[in-house]
Amino acid sequence: MIKIALAGNPNCGKTMLFNELTGSNQYVGNWAGVTVEAKEGKLKGEQDVIIADLPGIYSLSPYTPEEVVARNYLVNEEPDVILNIIDGTNLERNLYLTTQLCEIGIPVIMAINMIDIVKRNGDIINLDEISEHFGCTCFEISALKGTGVKKCAKKAVELARTNKGIPPIHHSFDDRVESAIHFISALLPDGTDMLHKRYYATKIFERDELVSADFPDCGDIIKDVERYYDDDSESIIADQRYRYITSCIDECRIKSGKIPVSDKIDSIVTNKYLSLPIFAAIMFGVYYLSVTTLGGTLSELITDRIFGETGLSLVAENLLVSVNCAAWLTSLIVNGIIAGVGAVLSFVPQIIVLFIFLSFLEDCGYMSRIAFIMDKLFRKFGLSGKSFIPILVGTGCGVPGIMSSRTIENVNERRMTIITTTFIPCGAKLPVIALIASALFNGAWWVAPSAYFIGIVAIISSGIILKKTKIFSGDISPFVMELPSYHMPTFKSVARATWDRSWSYVKKAGTIILLASCAVWFLSSFGFYSGSFGMVQKMDNSILAYLGNRIDIIFEPLGFGTWQAAVATLLGLIAKEEIVGVFGVLYDNIGEGFTALSGYSFLIFNLLCAPCVAAMGAIRREMNSAKWTLFAIFYQCFFAYCTSLAIYQLALLFETGAFTISTVFAFIVLAAFIFMLLRKPAKQYIAKR
Ligand code: GDP
Ligand code: MG
Repeated sequence: MIKIALAGNPNCGKTMLFNELTGSNQYVGNWAGVTVEAKEGKLKGEQDVIIADLPGIYSLSPYTPEEVVARNYLVNEEPDVILNIIDGTNLERNLYLTTQLCEIGIPVIMAINMIDIVKRNGDIINLDEISEHFGCTCFEISALKGTGVKKCAKKAVELARTNKGIPPIHHSFDDRVESAIHFISALLPDGTDMLHKRYYATKIFERDELVSADFPDCGDIIKDVERYYDDDSESIIADQRYRYITSCIDECRIKSGKIPVSDKIDSIVTNKYLSLPIFAAIMFGVYYLSVTTLGGTLSELITDRIFGETGLSLVAENLLVSVNCAAWLTSLIVNGIIAGVGAVLSFVPQIIVLFIFLSFLEDCGYMSRIAFIMDKLFRKFGLSGKSFIPILVGTGCGVPGIMSSRTIENVNERRMTIITTTFIPCGAKLPVIALIASALFNGAWWVAPSAYFIGIVAIISSGIILKKTKIFSGDISPFVMELPSYHMPTFKSVARATWDRSWSYVKKAGTIILLASCAVWFLSSFGFYSGSFGMVQKMDNSILAYLGNRIDIIFEPLGFGTWQAAVATLLGLIAKEEIVGVFGVLYDNIGEGFTALSGYSFLIFNLLCAPCVAAMGAIRREMNSAKWTLFAIFYQCFFAYCTSLAIYQLALLFETGAFTISTVFAFIVLAAFIFMLLRKPAKQYIAKR
């Protein structure tokens, strides 16, 4: 077995190359921090070659959990070759990592990626010079266009087969530093891996805590050098690396001096006044098009033809009756499975349209601008724009969204982000939004986009509220976001991303939703009636109604205190699509159970309350603490409850003049909310600023 590890800075195209080489379908997003775990796959056409995609790193001195993953993989998993992917539009920063990769002791091949953009900008990269300076073979590739990829992979495999154990050339530091590294190297215990000796010695010299702990104390040697340079050892090393790169960069690359197209676009899109309106307009358009117009029309078409009353269920019913199928089985298939799964599947067109837009916006580079724009806005409220990346990812699915919070170093900010990420409507919540918008609001233009914006407001206001508490107080960590160059996404990459996400939606419909629909059908068709157990005529006598009736009182103040809504909310915790599935089984028309206002309140509650079990599991993993997980779930449910209560009761008061005890509570909630937003931050918060 041969192992090739893809290493490089964040957003340099590793995952795209990985997908290209292995034929797999990992998530490619145009911003830093998309890949947070090492992923392995087999090279296409080679049975014994494993390619590993690693999280992006700027250096081998990790700060965040996912950077540690990458470093440990490179050092401990002993890949045979490191394929160093380099963003050609940003040579200096990328080569900084290269100098370190060459020190690990494993052969390195360099692949200068994004060569299409480099050429578009009119710059020229001199491969021979780079090869000579860094002592490793160097290729020009474009993972996006597929150019040069095969040749590069072939060379990597060849090198892995022939060059086992021969370390690459590495550059040398100043004499003093070099001799210190040699000294430390000699002190390393005998068992130390020969291959990695220089790497360990350098890390110990840098006082890397994770490495130094296992080795003898070399403090005196390091202090000597530090005294000489009057700087700390880590900075000395960093400084010398940069000086080395600066000394050779002009030979490696010739710049054309043209202003790149990307910068021109950015002058409009990230403009102080225009950026937020443009973002709002774009997201409005995306939701409007995918839920209401384009996606909505397509969904209606397939609902009418296939999943509606006159479609599949009629055909199935006729067929089953004609073969004398048992009444209960017919009911299970028609009213349970087809109604439940069909209700979920009928939203597939909307899902596809949404994901096409999102994939396009992500891939072209626009979404990373959003994080940048949002950083400015968030900062005013004491939040870091870094929290926005998980939210962007969460627009597809909350699970990877929560996972991408790993890129946030500060533990408080990370927790806060995990708690709030699922406020943004994910793909599975889209059908619920679409259902309410079409069935209760007649497809009004504002319903779907409002769900997205309520999500954002919920995140920002939660951020403000939490940040002011003692637990979450503290400085906002700096956020340096590099903006990748814009590019036109290829059809292939958008199609891939869309397919991947839509398919997982369909898969869920065929598995969890199918099972849940059967269960809902059973529980809603059977019950005790006049003393005996059996199929009931009226659903109100079913077990499900009985169970729902125990809890629906909780939702009374929110306007949807029916057993059906209670059951749907509860089953929404299995998967949010299941809400639509439940209604498919329980209602012929959801207008029977809701008014427009109570439907909207129901929607808000279900958008904001605890996410599905998969996402709750992700919260548990990332929080790594039962206490914090419970807090997150409690906070989400509490926030959702208060928001729905306030919206429903105040709108009701406005609409009908109804004033009850719940209205009083709504006012109290509103007042408390405003107070929490405006109050002075907790002490510690001020002290640190
Ligand atoms: P990673 O963070 O290193 O895994 O990077 P990704 O594979 O997620 O890619 C980051 C972004 O760069 C995506 O938007 C890709 O479409 C884009 N990208 C990757 N390779 C190329 C390339 O060769 N040319 C251009 N123009 N874009 C690329
Ligand atoms: Mg990646």
